[in-house]
Amino acid sequence: MDSAYQSTRDKALQASAKQAVLNGIAPDGGLYVLPELDTVKIDLDQILQGSYLDNAYTVLSALLPDYTKEELQECIHNAYGNSFTNEKITPLRQVGDVYVLELFHGPTSAFKDVALTLLPQLMSAALKSQEGKALILTATSGDTGKAALSGFQDVPNTGICVFYPDGKVSAMQYKQMASQQGSNVKVFGIQGNFDDAQTEVKNLFLNPELAKQAARHQVRLSSANSINIGRLIPQIVYYFDAYKQLVQQGVIEKGEEISFSVPTGNFGDVLAGYYASLMGLPVKKFYVASNANNVLTEFLNTGRYDKNRPFIQTISPSMDILVSSNLERLLYYMADKDEAKVAGWMQDLKDKGFYEVGPEMLERLQAKFGCGSYDDAATKQIIHDVFEQYGYVLDPHSAIGYGLADEAIKANQDGKEVVVALATASPYKFCSDVLDALGTQEKDPWKALHKLEEINPDPVPAGLAALEEAEILHKDVLKTEEMQQAVAGACAELFA
Ligand SMILES: *Cc1c(COP(=O)(O)O)cnc(C)c1O
Repeated sequence: MDSAYQSTRDKALQASAKQAVLNGIAPDGGLYVLPELDTVKIDLDQILQGSYLDNAYTVLSALLPDYTKEELQECIHNAYGNSFTNEKITPLRQVGDVYVLELFHGPTSAFKDVALTLLPQLMSAALKSQEGKALILTATSGDTGKAALSGFQDVPNTGICVFYPDGKVSAMQYKQMASQQGSNVKVFGIQGNFDDAQTEVKNLFLNPELAKQAARHQVRLSSANSINIGRLIPQIVYYFDAYKQLVQQGVIEKGEEISFSVPTGNFGDVLAGYYASLMGLPVKKFYVASNANNVLTEFLNTGRYDKNRPFIQTISPSMDILVSSNLERLLYYMADKDEAKVAGWMQDLKDKGFYEVGPEMLERLQAKFGCGSYDDAATKQIIHDVFEQYGYVLDPHSAIGYGLADEAIKANQDGKEVVVALATASPYKFCSDVLDALGTQEKDPWKALHKLEEINPDPVPAGLAALEEAEILHKDVLKTEEMQQAVAGACAELFA
């Protein structure tokens, strides 16, 4: 099973799990997939009896065949052993009719911690067997950057460069990244939006000149974005674990189908849920929840994915995305693993900015995926109403998932549908906007934090509380054309 993975666009481009983790993206620009994923089945009884860490081992060992048991257990222990503030790692709480899966109890208070505490460990283990070094390039719309910096900080034989859209992340997200410590980290603002940064990072991975410059320092360039299988696979775990918690809470019995509502940007989170369902988790529907950048809502309603549209800056910046990269993997499985079809759509997207999947594919997609989008005003209304009714404070991203979950439950008149809404960030990361939704104006991010603390029954996460006093260490802002040189410079400096 050494070459278990392949590109979504070409079966000839194969890789072991370790190679896929190190490469990030396939050489043709496609994404690594496991063709036999739908034949890998997870035993639900085992999940129901396992701790989160046990369940992580069950899922990871099924999908990363060339890692040894000892390697995986060490990786999992290092990731989750003591960096999460909730012993359940991802606790499930009932809020009204919706079950909220809180994914934000990691070191940076965002759901990306769940994967980005584990990915550096998986990389480090893979590097050990190959005796190499890796420089991670990450474009971020806000949360990934900090979670990746924190995950990679001082991990041996690795370095990390993070690029965020200057002025387009929250004050808290900015401070989190700009104050990052570590001897192997670089943080840059980019003039442009997230897609500009991500597009250039993708180009840099395919740039032969830069690869040569890196190779001079025995460095390979790799990705920590959600296209990396080492990001995706850890996220499958909490879908199974949420199911376990519902059974334990007596909400469902084993075998019953449930649904998930997922605030979506790059499509990694919801794709991980789809992977869980391919591996045997009983799922009725996935609700793909979007903000005003509703390209996925339109796609799931019409079958046409069209990125030719204005980019809208919203109060849920981690979902301000026009090209949802991981959708390519869903298309691969939904198109019965027809690489030529996938390659064709991606070519259309590149050449024309849109593609159309046709009525048959659309029907298949709609059988499993519902969708909906909420603009900022609607998002604030949800935050307001949920707090008013249940005393629970949602962040803007989580509110969008909650809103769609609640709508789905209300629309389902004839039977009860159990819907889990994924809560992807702590409301304390977006204090001013959350307060605004609750009827209080406070633009100063730290004053807002303290005001929210007075209202919210849940305490401020320690990592965010410490930020107020943290020193800014990274100040560079670049044009996208300058990113290549910055990366070459980081190779020389960090791995001298
Ligand atoms: C990244 C992120 C999302 C979107 O997740 P994708 O995997 O990109 O779809 C949603 N909410 C928050 C808070 C995030 O950081």
